[in-house]
Amino acid sequence: MTVAARPPCRVLVTGGAGFLGSHLCDRLLADGHAVTALDNYLTGRPENLAHLAGAERFTFVEADVRQPLSGRFDLIFHLACPASPTFYQADPVATATIAFLGTLNALQLARDCGARLVFASTSEVYGDPEEHPQSESYPGRVNPTGPRACYDEGKRIGETLCFDFRRVHGVDVKVARIFNTYGPRMSDGDGRVVSNFIVQALSGGPITVYGNGLQTRSFCYVDDLVAGLVAASLQPAEFAGPVNLGNPAEFSIRQLAEMVIALTGSPSRLVSAPLPVDDPRQRRPEIALARSALGWAPSVSLRDGLERTIRYFAGSEAVALPARDAS
Ligand code: UDP
Repeated sequence: MTVAARPPCRVLVTGGAGFLGSHLCDRLLADGHAVTALDNYLTGRPENLAHLAGAERFTFVEADVRQPLSGRFDLIFHLACPASPTFYQADPVATATIAFLGTLNALQLARDCGARLVFASTSEVYGDPEEHPQSESYPGRVNPTGPRACYDEGKRIGETLCFDFRRVHGVDVKVARIFNTYGPRMSDGDGRVVSNFIVQALSGGPITVYGNGLQTRSFCYVDDLVAGLVAASLQPAEFAGPVNLGNPAEFSIRQLAEMVIALTGSPSRLVSAPLPVDDPRQRRPEIALARSALGWAPSVSLRDGLERTIRYFAGSEAVALPARDAS
């Protein structure tokens, strides 16, 4: 029986105050579920959930996934983990601990409740890939000793735990490998490329292109990504994934910068900055499995998604709009 066939489900979203988690809470509430968001505000933000204060069927729990979790749930989305390179490298030992212990605790709760668990894994499990685009069968090329490893290897052991809990304890898991995702409620200070470029363009300051800007990413709008996570959660127990969720349209970082400048009408100029260590040169998801198994594909173009995201940042008090040339 699918989850959709028996709402309202009791759903736990770890990392519920984060960028992705808060959008997922909105979607699950709209679908009629009873939603508990759990977060310790390490990188999540109260303002992401402020609009849900007092909402029917919504509960917030301030807690750390490194501690054992409790409650009765039918479905758990385990998202809690710092996810931007700036944040996850700020305290790498904490990141690795959250990735391992947090996923262990979420899986133990799922086992104890008989809940289904959707694990937010990442395209970072592919590392700096030699196969392009990346399909789920590609085992990846991660440097286990580099500065990204706390996150990449943390998510890899998270996947391992999911499949071991499935084999050993029969937990119904779904592993989703999430590629670069953007949209409203990204934190303007988390250092990710879309938020950086939009904030820089709106303030008229230099746009920081790391390296030569020819490295590529494939950007998925948040609503599409949330729809993919929900579609994964509806699959029968036989389906565990892993399944790639992302938008296969691939852009160089330089192309992204030029698009943001064009859409904001900004006078900003591109400046070069050093390429971070172990920065993947290319990344594009192969989404044939998501299409066939989940019936899912993204529908929002980069241009449309950027316009929506620019509107969000332009309305945020944190960002000063550039003076527009009147000529
Ligand atoms: N990047 C950039 N300028 C920035 C931030 C990021 O050129 O101000 C580059 C970064 O080096 C990487 C790409 O944009 O090649 C995506 O970076 P992000 O941190 O958003 O995500 P990830 O590297 O985890 O895919």
